[in-house]
Amino acid sequence: MENRDNRDRDDREKSTAKRPEQSIENRRAEARLQRRKRVQRQRRILGIILLFVLVGIVFAAVIRFRGREDAAKNGKASNESGNLQDTEANAADSGELHLELSEADKYTGDLILVNSEYRYHVEENEELVQLVRVAEAKKGNYTVSGPEVQLAGRVMEPLERMIAACEAETGSYLSGISSAYRSVEDQQALYEEYADLYDLEYAKAYVANPGYSEHHTGLAMDLSIFYEDGSEGTFSSSAEAEWYADNSYRFGFVLRYQASKTEITGISNEEWHFRYVGIPHAYYMYEHDLCLEEYVDWLRSNTSELAPIAQACGDETYEIFFTANTSVPLPAESEYLVSGNNVDGYVIAYKRK
Ligand SMILES: [Zn+2]
Repeated sequence: MENRDNRDRDDREKSTAKRPEQSIENRRAEARLQRRKRVQRQRRILGIILLFVLVGIVFAAVIRFRGREDAAKNGKASNESGNLQDTEANAADSGELHLELSEADKYTGDLILVNSEYRYHVEENEELVQLVRVAEAKKGNYTVSGPEVQLAGRVMEPLERMIAACEAETGSYLSGISSAYRSVEDQQALYEEYADLYDLEYAKAYVANPGYSEHHTGLAMDLSIFYEDGSEGTFSSSAEAEWYADNSYRFGFVLRYQASKTEITGISNEEWHFRYVGIPHAYYMYEHDLCLEEYVDWLRSNTSELAPIAQACGDETYEIFFTANTSVPLPAESEYLVSGNNVDGYVIAYKRK
């Protein structure tokens, strides 16, 4: 078609040059040709417009479908990570997301406060904690003190990223895990061992009462230094300890028992003990120098569904709030984290879009 048109035009130009006085037939033929071309051009434009409309419709359908899939996935991921026991997130007709929280949800999740006052709820967490053996699950080259060391499965990925970052940023490959999950029975044995070895006062200062240790959660770990020959060094005051104190928040961990907070936590300075709380909370606690006891109280007194606080974490911003309500509306298709505080309610963090 193109070629034919071009040829026609060439002929026409030649003939016009030769014979300026065109016959009526020629002019009519010329007009017909022009009309045909105009119609063809219009059809082509219409075709292109139709194609665009079709592509647009398909594109919109794909986005809608993906959005639904993501929303379903987010809800499921939270369930899998154990943040959302018996929790239902329904997209209501309004397009809002509704979290339905149970009594048991108060005692599970990344932010549960476990200390001498608030015990760990073993039953509520039993199925959710999903312990893994660190030595078997690990991908990194760091040392684990023994095959029995276990952590909640969901902590493995951030832990590995944190250790890898420490290695990359300090050049030291000595950090490892000396202790992590402890059952109530383990804690009982440890308490008695310390009381025998030292005295009851020492045991009280360094070992939590059975049932009241953060180590029951599977979210806490004691870091250590391991030399190449397998021997263990002293973590306190090491360059690694300093790095973890200043950087663990980037991966969702906090230095749980600082010297400056001993009066509040009831536990002496433990430079080696880190606790996973989730990225938005770790950022807030680090930036505002709050221990978990303070943070849980602060959220309760200063935030609500209607007044969340914003926390920037790198490129992302989270809205965080405490609530005691069991039915909580969230913006549609939010990516959210929910945890009980193990005291009297729930803490929700959702990513701002
Ligand atoms: Zn510890």
